[in-house]
Amino acid sequence: MARKPVIGLLGGGQLGRMLCEAAGPLGIDIAVLDEEKAPAKHAANLHGLHATGSFKDPARIRELASRSDVLTVEIEHVDTDVLEDIATNGVVPAGAAPGSAKRKIPVHPSWKTLRLIQDKFLQKEHFRERGLPIAEQMAIGSGDSMLASLKGAGQKFGYPFMLKARKGSYDGRGNFKVSSEADFEQAIKELGKLPLYAEKWCEFVKELAVMVVRTEDDGGNLKALSPYSAVETVHQDSICTKTFMPPRNVPDDISERARKVAAQVIGSVWGRGVFAVEMFLLKDGSILVNEVAPRPHNSGHYTIEAVPYMSQYKAQLYAILDLPMPKVIRPRVSSAIMLNILGGAARDSHDKLVDLAERTTDEDMDVYVHLYGKESKPSRKIGHITLTGFSSIHDLEKSSERLTNLVDEIRL
Ligand code: ATP
Ligand code: MG
Ligand code: MG
Repeated sequence: MARKPVIGLLGGGQLGRMLCEAAGPLGIDIAVLDEEKAPAKHAANLHGLHATGSFKDPARIRELASRSDVLTVEIEHVDTDVLEDIATNGVVPAGAAPGSAKRKIPVHPSWKTLRLIQDKFLQKEHFRERGLPIAEQMAIGSGDSMLASLKGAGQKFGYPFMLKARKGSYDGRGNFKVSSEADFEQAIKELGKLPLYAEKWCEFVKELAVMVVRTEDDGGNLKALSPYSAVETVHQDSICTKTFMPPRNVPDDISERARKVAAQVIGSVWGRGVFAVEMFLLKDGSILVNEVAPRPHNSGHYTIEAVPYMSQYKAQLYAILDLPMPKVIRPRVSSAIMLNILGGAARDSHDKLVDLAERTTDEDMDVYVHLYGKESKPSRKIGHITLTGFSSIHDLEKSSERLTNLVDEIRL
């Protein structure tokens, strides 16, 4: 059998771990760059390809590239200058004599996409310029102009509005809800050192997310955009706690529209892979794009069990390696719920949730527990539980009530 290309992965958290878990049975090698004890490294190291160090360190990224045929990421907060150089000018392959010819290593999704997405303000300006729906937003000045700029945002959007870090945020850690001018001082204290932008407050009725697979030929021409089903995502304090597929109480035509918008959004970026498009559904039925993640995503975890022939992780591998994808991606169950296992106040706060999930047997619901091998910290994502069923999402929600209640309890 022909040797399969080696995928070099920047970042070895739970997304990388689940990517490695999908790669194992397919005989695909992944070389992970992260610290020695990173979760992804527990999952696979068949041929000793991993690199040790920070996925932010240019020298380690080049080392990873030297032993890979293609690079990808599990996190968008990476050095895109190094990735651009590796894709454009190449690296000397591992084991070759110093001074040997360099080999270009493709980066998927493209470093251009990663660079655009890193700055949430520019990301959404890009979508707006292409006629895609986003919330009104404005850049916030730094230093002495910040206060006046915040006042300007209050005048333009009214209160509350959302103040956001342009770069580096996740799980809502760069967000601050500004309810009145009285909040300015605290907002500046918390986020004032970062480049910021402000966004109009969205009174959404639901948050929706759609994973989209983007395939391209070697010349960078778009081949296909394949959206998964729309899911409802539930956030508490800006962190995702649950997802529901299909979304509860959302008419099918709205879910279809969300899939179309998501496909259009991903049609406007570059490279291969799976992407998540986070959206707000407003009262009047309109949809706004919140942000894009250029990688597998929390809202796509349910696909491991609900779309077993093409989970988001397998799709990531297939897309990157340009292997044939099914034209339409459909779940193999009627409904699925994903519950995040988040660290609570105490190190063992989540144990009772894991215990209950492990003990739950139900004719109408299959229960799958995933633990990432991460130490518990408050609000840290340390695992998830997927529930699948063959009846409606409402029936599945009823069957899962004890588990969902416990998820909420741990958060309190
Ligand atoms: P992620 O972990 O998804 O990368 P993030 O840190 O990039 O999150 P956002 O996705 O911008 O943060 O926001 C997190 C959550 O905060 C959203 O899912 C939503 O619940 C809430 N939120 C964000 N922007 C707004 C807004 N303009 N109006 C109301 N709520 C918002
Ligand atoms: Mg984000
Ligand atoms: Mg988000």
